Amino acid sequence: MCRHVGYLGPATTLSGLLLEPEHSLLEQSWAPADMRGGGKINADGFGVGWYDTPEAPAVYRNDRPIWTDEAFREVARIVRSTAVVGAVRSATVGMPLSPAACAPFRSGKWLFSHNGKVIGWPNSLSSIASRLDPAALMTLPAPTDSAVLWALLHQLLEQGVEPGKAIRSLLVEVEQCAPGSRLNFLLTDGDQLFATTWTHALWVRRTRSSVTVASEPFGPAVEWQRVPDRQLLTAVPGRVTMTPIPGTESYD
Ligand code: GLN
Repeated sequence: MCRHVGYLGPATTLSGLLLEPEHSLLEQSWAPADMRGGGKINADGFGVGWYDTPEAPAVYRNDRPIWTDEAFREVARIVRSTAVVGAVRSATVGMPLSPAACAPFRSGKWLFSHNGKVIGWPNSLSSIASRLDPAALMTLPAPTDSAVLWALLHQLLEQGVEPGKAIRSLLVEVEQCAPGSRLNFLLTDGDQLFATTWTHALWVRRTRSSVTVASEPFGPAVEWQRVPDRQLLTAVPGRVTMTPIPGTESYD
């Protein structure tokens, strides 16, 4: 399964966050430690989103492995941001390879990443997806489970539903239609970070002025705390709240 990272805090270079630390996202692309049977490596592309100006995140995506992209390494040494989302992809069998299929997905001020897969795709999601505007369906960034999940979540956000509530209701609904799905989400608007654990690993690192969430810890191990399964994590720099999401089975 893909690996993702979300960060809010003092400005960091993309490289300092994603490429340089021990067992960084870069290393997790070719030597992940906890894929739980969802593939072996994350070589199907990658994406990084960051906030250059509030409300207008920039996104860099590539459908090649992150370790082959020298241009990104150069850019990542220079670009700094106070809010970053990074993801390396292991495409679910049957889903296409393209830069646009790589997280993070962007819409307005939002960046979204999904680590996991929808069981029974695409039929299991078709009843929920039918409430999407046809134009939204026809302009999905890619024909993947993650892109549909993002369109559904974005629809709720556009309707003014509070992000935590929108995520919870979507998770519960998808679990009903597609039981056993893996649904680790990551969502930010550059100020707040939302993340879920739904049968996949997630860790959190908190300092007085920052918060980082990641599928696998990187840098000094002592700084990280494992997030239990079936949680919604809500964070701003220095403050993290976890609330259980009702569900049937638990990986823990
Ligand atoms: N199912 C998604 C995709 O194919 C996410 C894959 C993953 O988490 N490994 O892009």
